[in-house]
Amino acid sequence: MSSSEVAVEQGRESGLKPIPGPILLLGAPGVGKGTQAKELVKLWGIPQISTGDLLRANVGQGTSLGRVAKEIMGRGELVPDSLVDEMVAVRLQQPDTANGYILDGFPRTLGQAGWLDGRLAKQTQGLPVVAVSIQVDYNQLLRRITGRRNCPVCQRIYNVYSHPPQQAGFCDVDGAALAQRADDTEQVFKERMRAYSSMTAPVVDHYRELGRFAEVDGDRPIELIASGIVDAVERLRK
Ligand code: AMP
Repeated sequence: MSSSEVAVEQGRESGLKPIPGPILLLGAPGVGKGTQAKELVKLWGIPQISTGDLLRANVGQGTSLGRVAKEIMGRGELVPDSLVDEMVAVRLQQPDTANGYILDGFPRTLGQAGWLDGRLAKQTQGLPVVAVSIQVDYNQLLRRITGRRNCPVCQRIYNVYSHPPQQAGFCDVDGAALAQRADDTEQVFKERMRAYSSMTAPVVDHYRELGRFAEVDGDRPIELIASGIVDAVERLRK
């Protein structure tokens, strides 16, 4: 029996829900990877690891990684693989990743995918990674990105077009002034889309060729997308 079959079997024997294992959420900027990752966290109790959030935390704390990443992120380009891989390696050492994790926004290059595959191949236990990509069309993404605002206090996300706050510019819950991510402008969005097409689209092909890939339609209500992802993961795990 392979290590993945053992893990599934152990889940069955213990009467618990099957262990989710490592899951990659792929997709262009603004498709809703972060929102969906949070839905899956609630469902499966495994952590979301967002490389964008980790990088922004480093920028906020002014670490040496943050100082390098800030300019690159501001231009909508990708932070070098070696820096991102190291950051992910440190996060994956945390014990909360034992039953799986949702990688949100990683891998974004074939180099990162190779690094992750190599790391997982060294583990004798555990399920193989599966990748799910969320699909949304370009014009819809542009509206989502340029309309996105967040509350710096409670982290709620709004959209000036599709989910505006009651009072423009202020959070419904705590009244804080809403903020816009520096890279959520149209100009930077276009650069992020270029980086996605040239660097991340090959990652999708890589997992497709391995037979561990599925696509879900991201232009639907949040719960429907989440159940589409759950179905896809279960199918890929069979
Ligand atoms: P996100 O929040 O996922 O849209 O990421 C915001 C920005 O962080 C991206 O435009 C990149 O500059 C950087 N970033 C996030 N994840 C990665 C990654 N896996 N590799 C390289 N750069 C990344």
